[in-house]
Order: sequence, then structure tokens, then C-alpha cells
Amino acid sequence: MLLATEQLTRRYAGLIAVDAVDLAVPDTGIHAVIGPNGAGKTTLFNLISGLTPPSSGRIVFAGSDVTGDPADRRARAGMARTFQNIRVFNSMSVLDNALTGLHPRLTASLPAIVTRLPGFRREESAAIARARAALGLAGLLTRAHEAAGALPYGDQRRLEIARAMAGEPRLLLLDEPAAGMNPAERASLAALIRAIAAGGTTVLLVEHDMPFVMGLCDSVTVLNFGRRIFSGPPAAARQNKAVIEAYLGPKVAARLGGAA
Ligand code: ATP
Repeated sequence: MLLATEQLTRRYAGLIAVDAVDLAVPDTGIHAVIGPNGAGKTTLFNLISGLTPPSSGRIVFAGSDVTGDPADRRARAGMARTFQNIRVFNSMSVLDNALTGLHPRLTASLPAIVTRLPGFRREESAAIARARAALGLAGLLTRAHEAAGALPYGDQRRLEIARAMAGEPRLLLLDEPAAGMNPAERASLAALIRAIAAGGTTVLLVEHDMPFVMGLCDSVTVLNFGRRIFSGPPAAARQNKAVIEAYLGPKVAARLGGAA
């Protein structure tokens, strides 16, 4: 397993947002966390990426216990993520936006940067090459020198993914990547996510668009009121009684091809 959470729990006053969740993400493929609003999906992502400390439980990533590690150490260990709300720097170029994704990985000291020592220049050109490769993957290389704010919505969302990919992560966490996209943008996003997985980066995403999830993912984990109620292949999820009752509803399950 690339990532495993063990009995992972996050309590807020009077509420358990994530309740003893065991999640297992294999070394490869595309995986989803789904469930109704407020089920704890974003909190789970925040726990995994290190933005929120757990109340109890463990997180093991690439064979190491990272439960106590800050977000930047997890990023250096190979985790990258995007957020529900768009977070591109509008006035910066597309390339500079992608370069910010490499920030946790740069090692040059401040004096080396200021005086532009050869070590820094080597690191800078390697960083630019990686950022350009990530933009190429996302189909944004021809727009590298435009202001990010000038890109259409779907391209801005793909830029966020390119920024996360610039660091060549082992695990990419995408929080509602298809939100607000039209069908053409969703199709191009699905192709990008498939290309990322084919390149060896494991993808874990939170998403409400069920046709998108069911057509793309190798496995789904379903949360309801902070608890894991299902984990397995999408075809089994849409036939699972608890999943239909808590989230899909019989009509959506039937449309997706499961038993109603
Ligand atoms: P959505 O699909 O609407 O994004 P979600 O499944 O991502 O929902 P979370 O955002 O993780 O759900 O929220 C889970 C529960 O935890 C909700 O009841 C939410 O109100 C609560 N919660 C999340 N963050 C906090 C916080 N910082 N303080 C208090 N309660 C919180």
C-alpha cells in the first residue's frame, strides 16, 4: 500500500468529522473518497496531507509513519494536493504558477539564490524543466507565459494539477477536481488524470460527480457521518445497499448501472 490510515479520527467540539477511518490506497491507480456533504472527505484529505492534526490514529505513507510530520515534510516525501476552491495566482504566469509547486523541494540556500551561484542556477533550470514537463502533461505548455488569470476555468483547474505534478509526487490528492466543469472540461480532466496514473503517480480524489468517479476510478471508499461504510470497486459500490441509502439514492444507482 502506498498510503494507509489506521483508525484515523478527528474530533471537533461535539462532532466527530472523521471517525476511526481505515483507508488503504494501493501503489498504483486512481481511487476516490465519496460520500454526502459533511461526511468528512475534506477533513480526511486535510489529515492525510498534514494540514489538520488527527485526534487519534495513524497515517502510513510509503512505508513510513508520517502521523506527526508537518505538511511540508509530507510534500517532500511525495504527497501533493489541490484544493476545492481554485488557488492559482492570477497575475503570475502559468509557468511561475507551476514553479511554485516545486517550492517544498528546492534546497538552495538564500545566499546561493541571491548571488545566483552555479548550484542554484542548476537547480533553477532543473525546476523549470520539471514545471514545463508538468505543463506539457496538462496541455498548457503553449500558454506558459500568459497570466494564469487569463486562462479559462477548466485550464486554471488543470494548472493547479500541473503545479502539484511539478514536484513529481508519488501520491496526488485532488479535492473535487471536476467541480464546476462542463462536459468537455470533465472529459479532458479525466484524460489528464488517466495520464498521471499511467505515468506512475497514484491518484486519490474526492468528487461528487458520480458518472465521472465511476468511469475513472479503480476503487472507491465511501464515508458517511465520518465513518467508512464501504471500500471496493465502483461496480460493487453502486450495488451496495448502505451506499445507496446513505449517498447515491436508488435513481442515481440505477442510472450508474447498479441495482436499485
Ligand atoms: P463536502 O462534500 O460538503 O465538501 P465533506 O465530506 O468534505 O463535505 P468536511 O468538510 O470534511 O465534509 O466536514 C465534515 C464535518 O466536520 C462537517 O460537519 C463540518 O461542519 C465539520 N468540520 C470540518 N472542519 C471543521 C472545523 N474546522 N471546525 C468544526 N467543524 C468542522
